[in-house]
Amino acid sequence: MDMDATRKLLLLARRPHDLDTLVIAGVLGQALEAGRAPLIRGLAEARFQRLINEYFVDLALENHASECDRGDDEFEDLLQLLLDHRSHPNETSAWLAYAVASAAMGENHLWQDMGLPSRRHLSNFMISRFGSLAARNTGDMKWKKFFYRQMCERAGVPICKSPHCADCCDYAVCFGPEDDGGPA
Ligand code: SF4
Repeated sequence: MDMDATRKLLLLARRPHDLDTLVIAGVLGQALEAGRAPLIRGLAEARFQRLINEYFVDLALENHASECDRGDDEFEDLLQLLLDHRSHPNETSAWLAYAVASAAMGENHLWQDMGLPSRRHLSNFMISRFGSLAARNTGDMKWKKFFYRQMCERAGVPICKSPHCADCCDYAVCFGPEDDGGPA
């Protein structure tokens, strides 16, 4: 994984060792490396600029958000799940929810899509910022799988092949190791 964009962002960070900063820099860095726009989905330019000013010094960056950003994926549902579970229901936590939901639309393990150094960083971040949601992941399920199960439970849609994970033939898919470059 090319971390150059994230590293450059961290050089301009107000609090480069702060976990929230690692998340924002990682998500932005991954989007920049991939040439994606908007960098964080759903955040209007004014909100994005307040985020940039909160985390960085002298960084000129635009989100390039537009009304056409709404895709046919699960972004909005996941965003709402995260917003509802913010440990602190403030604007900072909202920015972080948008960042996580944006990154989660990627193809890899979530911690990789978020440009974080390890899965442990992601788990610590989830406990800190989305505590009531993280507390439900009692089996240390892969984070993306866990999100999707939560969304399906909310919607009353049973996508799982078994009512209980322990009896499910996909157990290894949902709970297997998440430290390699394999699918999310
Ligand atoms: S292990 Fe099976 S039941 Fe559990 S979340 Fe995965 S697919 Fe659903």
